[in-house]
Amino acid sequence: MDRFQEYIEIRGARENNLKNVSLRIPKRKITIFTGVSGSGKSSIVFDTIATEAQRQLNENFSMFIRNFLPKYAQPNADAIENLSMAIVVDQRRLGGNSHSTMGTITDISPVLRLLFSRIGEPHIGGSNAFSFNDPQGMCIECNGLGRKMGVLADTFLDMDKSLNEGAVQVPVFATWEKSSYASSGFFDNDKKLSDFTEEEMDLLLYGKNMKFKMQVGGGTMNASYLGIIEKFERSYIKRDIKTLSERTQKAVAPYIALKPCPACKGARLSQAALSCKIKGKNIAEMSALEVSELLAIINDIKEPVAASMAATLSERLQHLVDIGLDYLSLDRETSTLSGGESQRVKMVKHLSSSLIDVMYIFDEPSVGLHPRDVHRLNELLGKLRDKGNTVIVVEHDPDVIKVADHIVDVGPHAGSNGGNIVFEGTFDELIHADTLTGRHIKQSLPIKENSRKASGKLSVLKANVNNLHNVSVDIPEGVLTVVTGVAGSGKSSLINHVFLKQHPKAVVIDQSAVGTSTRSNPATYTGVMDDVRKAFAKENGVSASLFSFNSQGACENCQGLGVIYTDLAFLDGIKTPCEVCEGKRFKEEVLAYKLDGKSISDVLELTVLQSLDYFKQKDIRNKLQAMSDVGLDYLTLGQPLSTLSGGECQRIKLASELHKKSGVYVLDEPTTGLHMSDISHLLSIMNRLVDSGNTMIVIEHNLDVIKNADWIIDMGPDGGTKGGKVVFEGTPVELLNATGSITSQYLRGANA
Ligand code: ADP
Ligand code: ADP
Ligand code: ZN
Ligand code: ZN
Repeated sequence: MDRFQEYIEIRGARENNLKNVSLRIPKRKITIFTGVSGSGKSSIVFDTIATEAQRQLNENFSMFIRNFLPKYAQPNADAIENLSMAIVVDQRRLGGNSHSTMGTITDISPVLRLLFSRIGEPHIGGSNAFSFNDPQGMCIECNGLGRKMGVLADTFLDMDKSLNEGAVQVPVFATWEKSSYASSGFFDNDKKLSDFTEEEMDLLLYGKNMKFKMQVGGGTMNASYLGIIEKFERSYIKRDIKTLSERTQKAVAPYIALKPCPACKGARLSQAALSCKIKGKNIAEMSALEVSELLAIINDIKEPVAASMAATLSERLQHLVDIGLDYLSLDRETSTLSGGESQRVKMVKHLSSSLIDVMYIFDEPSVGLHPRDVHRLNELLGKLRDKGNTVIVVEHDPDVIKVADHIVDVGPHAGSNGGNIVFEGTFDELIHADTLTGRHIKQSLPIKENSRKASGKLSVLKANVNNLHNVSVDIPEGVLTVVTGVAGSGKSSLINHVFLKQHPKAVVIDQSAVGTSTRSNPATYTGVMDDVRKAFAKENGVSASLFSFNSQGACENCQGLGVIYTDLAFLDGIKTPCEVCEGKRFKEEVLAYKLDGKSISDVLELTVLQSLDYFKQKDIRNKLQAMSDVGLDYLTLGQPLSTLSGGECQRIKLASELHKKSGVYVLDEPTTGLHMSDISHLLSIMNRLVDSGNTMIVIEHNLDVIKNADWIIDMGPDGGTKGGKVVFEGTPVELLNATGSITSQYLRGANA
């Protein structure tokens, strides 16, 4: 492959809905793919380009190695030429165990350890001595986890009672164990626990191995005193759990939880490592700082021996600041990052890499970013390009699309009405193009003037999770509330962590996968399939169960899957259409039964839009209409739900709620994956849910959605420790004139 070729060349691409698409993508430039959801962007970028790049890469390995790699079938296209190695930076969360942190995943922690091993005082050893993943550095008490099993003792004592009145209430202690505290002779048995001194309380909870004479029957017996917590731990935690009866295990389980390790206080490191400091801070304290604060300290390091390490650290930390993650700390576990944050962390990892001439592929990198932070993302995309890489982005946000060197608009619509390239060119050309994107990119929705009045309120009281400090706020009922604010300001802490705990009846409509079985599809998910089967049964005078993939009516060769998976030991596994049913999934005799001229298999091939023409039954039509209303009319009834994107999953869930009443719904960034032309659509669905008596709470950055709220709660003023407050509550019109709100500034900008 010649790296000086200027274009990636694709001819005759036909994956999914693509209609023989041919295009050229300039190398070492930023190319952005846009178009309505379902138009075919992912089919080009992920299913064709990224898949082929990965497949070509795997071809370089021996058969033996390839057997251990994921299998990539050749994409359906005439030619795909001149690819580079592909790195897909998607929103899949950075799972990982608790040993995976922001610092480890960005390779910043190893450098920080090296720095401590060079200039930390007192000097204690090599860089491994600062690693909680290494036996030399880890806290021996918790094995580097930072947490340990401990007792949840809140309910063990009644502070308003004395020992004689039965203040010790540990549920799993025997009566004699509970009364042993009063008979120890160490306490004033008539004193209320709330009047105990600190020393007395300490003795009651943690005292150990003191001899005393216990009253037994009429006489006394020598016994060894153990405080309540100490006793509980020895009996139930510091021993092999399997030696306890199942009943005891169940009884103590509610009182045992992971708590910060008492030895390292959660820092995960050995005492020696924790005593070593730079500028008065140990490595755990540095890792707990927000990135922006840590950067300031690192930039202040002047020792010549540390110069190159400090420079590396400074560069990587600056990348994190640039991409709007300055509010995170290095010790943050990656499993707690949101999808958008995960994607940005991955981006930083690549910025620090020395690879060039790589194809970086991004899936909607603006997710989770407030308009304030989008320019930072744009700068990073530019940096990747300027290092000599090809940057390919699927994106809907006009502010990101603006920075593209080249734009590809896919359409004109979704599904079978899409699959074509409808525009290629620059941003200036796009705004004059007669495509959905071209028409919508210059419009923005007006600010809602007549806000609905609340029918009641749902209060959040004294929220203290993460960066929230005693936040109390009222969320109006019966209206559309948008919770907004820059990334890291505390929106999800407030809504997902606190509000949902205080109001557990609220229904969350998120982007997680729908459907539990591989056979789920839009028809089964919405319940339409049951009605369809009954209609077929009634028309033909046979049993409804014949028309299910899971029944005797299914093709026996493929068990109703329509395809056969063949695993070949040393070659790529292959998926071939079932030759018995030819992909139709049912037995021939079942396919002979028709309803209005179509077999059950024909019906499953219909899109939602087509099936609205086909079905006359009211309850089927209502369910289909709901799918169409959320912008999913291009899905076929039989398409496996596993092929849906996160945004599509969220909207199909929304559709199934449309006919319900008087609930509270929480949506996290529902515009994800949605083209600008679909936003007014989404808004009308949310408005419909509100009009039928529901309360909608939406976490969003999209300005069109903010403008159409009845009520806005703006978190801020900034991210991390600089956030965590409600900076504005009110209507969109009031927000326009608010001071001290970053969102307000951007709203004014969009309205200018
Ligand atoms: P976009 O990325 O523009 O939202 P996609 O490329 O994901 O669109 O989808 C284009 C069309 O192909 C849609 O109709 C979608 O439902 C369909 N599709 C996507 N993936 C699959 C698949 N694995 N199997 C069948 N149809 C698919
Ligand atoms: P937003 O939703 O506005 O982007 P979040 O509520 O996710 O903000 O985050 C607010 C603050 O709380 C940030 O500083 C973030 O790093 C921190 N935070 C969020 N989740 C966790 C967690 N699981 N553990 C520790 N800190 C967290
Ligand atoms: Zn520890
Ligand atoms: Zn078959």
